Amino acid sequence: MKRAFLLILTILFIKACNIPALQAAAIEPQEKSLLSFLDSIFQNRTETVFQFIETDPAQIEAISRMVSIDRKQDSLFTAYANRQEMAAFLQSGHRIHSILASPTEIARQQKSISMAQTMEEMAEWNRYPTYPLYIEMMRSFAQEHPDICRLDTIGFSVKGRLILCLKISDNAHQEEPEPSFFYSSSIHGDELTGYVLMLRLADYLLDNYGSDEEATRLVDEMQIHINPLSNPDGAYALSDENVSGATRYNANGIDLNRNYPDFWSGDHSRIEKENQAMIDYVAAHDFVMAVNVHGGSDVLNYPWDGFRSSQKEHADAAWWQAICARYVDSCRLVDAASYRDVNSQGYIHGGDWYVVHNGRQDYFNIYNHVRELTLEISVTKLPDASRLPDFWNTNWRSLLNYMKEAGYGIRGSVSDSVSGEPIRALVCVQGHDKDSSQIYSSAIHGAYFRPIEAGTYDLRFSAPGYFPKTIQGIQVRNLNYTVNNIALLPDTSWHSGLANDPPVDANGLDKNPATCRLYPNPVSGTLHIEADEPVSLQAVYRVSDGRRVLAPRIRNFQKAHRLDASILPSGFYLLEIETENGSRNILRFVKQ
Ligand SMILES: [Zn+2]
Repeated sequence: MKRAFLLILTILFIKACNIPALQAAAIEPQEKSLLSFLDSIFQNRTETVFQFIETDPAQIEAISRMVSIDRKQDSLFTAYANRQEMAAFLQSGHRIHSILASPTEIARQQKSISMAQTMEEMAEWNRYPTYPLYIEMMRSFAQEHPDICRLDTIGFSVKGRLILCLKISDNAHQEEPEPSFFYSSSIHGDELTGYVLMLRLADYLLDNYGSDEEATRLVDEMQIHINPLSNPDGAYALSDENVSGATRYNANGIDLNRNYPDFWSGDHSRIEKENQAMIDYVAAHDFVMAVNVHGGSDVLNYPWDGFRSSQKEHADAAWWQAICARYVDSCRLVDAASYRDVNSQGYIHGGDWYVVHNGRQDYFNIYNHVRELTLEISVTKLPDASRLPDFWNTNWRSLLNYMKEAGYGIRGSVSDSVSGEPIRALVCVQGHDKDSSQIYSSAIHGAYFRPIEAGTYDLRFSAPGYFPKTIQGIQVRNLNYTVNNIALLPDTSWHSGLANDPPVDANGLDKNPATCRLYPNPVSGTLHIEADEPVSLQAVYRVSDGRRVLAPRIRNFQKAHRLDASILPSGFYLLEIETENGSRNILRFVKQ
């Protein structure tokens, strides 16, 4: 397109409110071709920070799919882009308002990055650790507290760096019927306040276990998972020894927080290595709540990111607002000026700030039923290291209290009334749940945890192969929990084909499910699935106990699938499929 080369970018200057100028002379791309303009921007960097002005919500949403919007102040947006993303932005006729210095360029100019190479140098928590020191710290947490701390490897980055997670709990090596919580920081490699604060949180819990009552209770009664650094290649982009060259994106130049499968748009494009590892790790755990810690603002951003609240509200919006307010309130007891960057209340429905697609928060909420929130913890992404203790002082009480929210509400266990064995059951709040806000009890021990705002609720418990049960009038008080242990009666008619209550979500089976054929049935090797419209395979359940025995790592929507049934023991199975518009259907097959 010739138009693309006639870029009218007259006002291109270094806009700097306290931000040092990146280049003294203004770039004048008026007469330059797009390519040479891009060359000039991406000469020394793989990603650039820039601003644009936009007021039209539809345009903002379109731009959000091209570049990575990072911040919004009225109609002025700050965004990141790699070369390809910037080309798309300009080719579609949008205009750059200004190009900014990146957080790491600012930090380098201000010489504010102080690195620690030894544990002793981290004693005051006022430095950033080198990558080798980070690994050493994580290992030593587990080695020095072997009973209450386990070190997990979530996976590896593109460049082979470790993505690690500490599990902190009494009996850390067992899966216990306690609420599981997941803190994860710095998916954007240049947002590193949370990185150091998460290390310090782990240290605080381990150090105070047995002496401080609150820390001891948290470790005893919860399963706390802490992943301080989910984008190590971004944080240590220039060298293992320094974070001063940190980038937002990973080593492939991809924004990891715009790279998760998007349920509503059906965009399941290539998943980066770091994210695939995270998807697998979270799918393997029964996390009740999670926090994705960022920097660049100070605000709590709750679901949904993909919609404005006028389009779609979370079923538990009132609960989100209440727990966010509690977080903000206890920070403001220490620093009354904190969490005011976006609004006075300090929290916001994500899409009302700006719409983000393919983010991790919405993915975890929709696909894993994990209540994840995005915590923007410091307005400066890469603050002067000497200021890190200030952020700890403001946030640590809130970080502890926020975890406790996972244990409030309604909890209990679901088991088989005959055998007493745990059941993975769908737990649905009648007339309330929608968009995956329903939860499941654990297949391992049957425990379930349903955080919910104070009120009176009817809960329905169901699982394939069992008669469902509804408990009415469960009362919940704030900052408290109500226990309901449930035994479900096996429904033997399952075996004769009278499906009673298949494992569907709260919306129930769709009225017009996709027509689908399975063959051969009974099957011994490969099961072929053919549908009239594209479907994805959700899960395979064993009829005898309702356990999920297979679940695909990535859900592809297509009309024909194959499933390797050779690995399944003989018996009756249920295959759950889903169409692109989210309707589900259950199909039965027999393994010979
Ligand atoms: Zn971020």
